[in-house]
Amino acid sequence: MTGTVVKSTGSWYLVRAHAEGQLYKCRLRGKFKNKGLKVSNPIAVGDEVTLEPEGGEHQGVITDIKPRRNYIIRKSTHKAHHAHIVASNLDQAFLVVTLVSPRTSFGFIDRFLVTAEAYSIPATLLFNKLDLYDGEALGYLEQVMGLYKQVGYPCFPCSAQTGEGIAEIEGLLADKTTLFTGHSGVGKSTLVNSLVPDLDIKTSEISAFSDKGVHTTTFAEMFEVGANTYLIDTPGIKELGVVEMKKEEIGHYFPEMRERLNKCKYHNCVHINEPGCAVQDAVKKGKIALPRYESYLSLLQNDDSHR
Ligand code: GDP
Ligand code: ZN
Repeated sequence: MTGTVVKSTGSWYLVRAHAEGQLYKCRLRGKFKNKGLKVSNPIAVGDEVTLEPEGGEHQGVITDIKPRRNYIIRKSTHKAHHAHIVASNLDQAFLVVTLVSPRTSFGFIDRFLVTAEAYSIPATLLFNKLDLYDGEALGYLEQVMGLYKQVGYPCFPCSAQTGEGIAEIEGLLADKTTLFTGHSGVGKSTLVNSLVPDLDIKTSEISAFSDKGVHTTTFAEMFEVGANTYLIDTPGIKELGVVEMKKEEIGHYFPEMRERLNKCKYHNCVHINEPGCAVQDAVKKGKIALPRYESYLSLLQNDDSHR
């Protein structure tokens, strides 16, 4: 039978069988090689797998994996130069940000957006804690949302605390698998709680499979929000990343740069100080927002997109 991996601990996996919806605690059989990608985990949340019941009740073994439609990674914490697949087969990714208490930096937002672009995953920004914004902060919020909307990213203000804007976000989830991420303190857990019905019950169902006393680290977990509607939470994940991004590639992951790249005089232009550069020209004319260009430069200089 086939199923979807909803949780992975590294030593065992929780798989939702497609036909019956039953959860199976599974181990792996055989080798799962990830072609062309050095990864520290062979199977990730979101993977579509073949499983066979084996062992006790609701236990099984994963025997095969279907090719991934897409996936998103972070840097492996225990293997240098390895990637850890956070989740796969995503329809969209939502970044929860706050401009007050705490303030998410443009650099953080832009690194997330570049990651989503690199893996062709539609990205949306959720501006949480709307209840905390006063007159001046509201004006700033409008300005920042305007900047990202202009580039083409949907932006939604909300308050997980008061419920404002939550119904609208719920509407965006229908019939899709959505990854939720954000740095700590932005209210992602509160938001996920308000979006997943009976989250406590579901979490306890899932943890009923945990080995008592055995420390298991989990980084992502998939929850059913409604019919054919899934949400992947990413607790403990600081930041997503991209593998091996070349300097000339980075501009392609900024939509407002991408559309101008063929107008640069030199085809290998990296848009720093080359003459006849359409990107620098657009920055000067205010057509490309300065913070976005600064994020581009910082990605270029670090040349390490894993951070
Ligand atoms: P996470 O680290 O992103 O998962 O954030 P949490 O959900 O744990 O929330 C961090 C803090 O922000 C908690 O004290 C929440 O009560 C608070 N919080 C979450 N959402 C909101 C909101 O919309 N408005 C306000 N004022 N506080 C919020
Ligand atoms: Zn250029």
